[in-house]
Amino acid sequence: MQNVPATRQQLITELLTQGVQVINPQQEHVSRHGGAGPSDHQAMNIDGVTVMVPIYTHSAHRSPWQVKHEASGTTRLYNLSIPVKEISIAHKPRFYDRQTADGIPATLHGTDVLATTVLQTCIRYENRAKACQFCAIGQSLAAGSTIARKTPQQLAEVAKAAVELDSVKHMVMTTGTPSGSDRGARILVESAAAIKAAVDLPLQGQCEPPGDAVWFQRMKDAGIDALGMHLEAVTPAVRARIMPGKAQVSVEQYLIAFADAVAVFGRGQVSTYILAGLGDTPGAILSLSETLIDLGVYPFVVPFVPISGTPLEHHAAPDSTFMTSILQPLGQMLNAANLRSSDIKAGCGRCGACSSLSSFEQATA
Ligand code: SF4
Repeated sequence: MQNVPATRQQLITELLTQGVQVINPQQEHVSRHGGAGPSDHQAMNIDGVTVMVPIYTHSAHRSPWQVKHEASGTTRLYNLSIPVKEISIAHKPRFYDRQTADGIPATLHGTDVLATTVLQTCIRYENRAKACQFCAIGQSLAAGSTIARKTPQQLAEVAKAAVELDSVKHMVMTTGTPSGSDRGARILVESAAAIKAAVDLPLQGQCEPPGDAVWFQRMKDAGIDALGMHLEAVTPAVRARIMPGKAQVSVEQYLIAFADAVAVFGRGQVSTYILAGLGDTPGAILSLSETLIDLGVYPFVVPFVPISGTPLEHHAAPDSTFMTSILQPLGQMLNAANLRSSDIKAGCGRCGACSSLSSFEQATA
């Protein structure tokens, strides 16, 4: 029999890496199949922490963890049929019912984050031999569940509704990479300006490093409060294998862009997403994280979750021992540097639901 983890951060790490089988899904709960960002997940609240738990992945179907909705109205987490604890699951947000003419251009991540992919096409994805192998950006477009380009007006409309109806606290705008040298910064600027004119909502923009550093100031001036530029993997050989197109932008080029971005957005308001479990060693991730923290960049390390329909759908997720060997020392490093997720104004690092990093941060504070 599997032992139930003793600490909150260990439990969350197990759920994120192994996934959960939902025995009797309920219609009023919101889950997500396909698309960019955390796909194949359901937002669950475990001991007061929102976690995006994989439920549609291959490993979730084999997971020892189960969730059951009981007749009493309670939702309970089980491990190998042994009750572990009561949890709660995010309900469908009210703004989903208020669609724009073209459908819903954004989704709720966790419980208080609005997230959207502004441009659902990507130069890296057009040539499948060069595409990032973990990415599902084309799936929701192919399925007709989203549109290729969300206009600034649509985004402003949904952001206002999400704040008014569901008390959303911050917003993430990501984008596929267009062919221009701005690498997506231009459409983030246009979108941010329209959103900020409609509603006072902290915004994170996510794009590749723009060709000209002047875009950092333009994004800030348009109302983007925090910026994510995502390395995904840290070792050159792993990057070349997993993301042959995007790996053409080297880690060194990212480091230059990070320094330029921190000069504009401030220490701790620039972050990067690192997917652990794709081949980078814990030592490689921690070593680069140290460099990033010195620059004032928050390294948001998340366990890789294999998404259905991508080339990596059968790739194993990392186990919780592997994740703990990274997140525990990383939490200590972040505390020592006074670089905390709770100080980030908007975005994935502030939300934290795709990783147990912030729980490790709190546990080692
Ligand atoms: S961490 Fe980022 S991608 Fe994950 S749920 Fe939160 S906002 Fe979405």
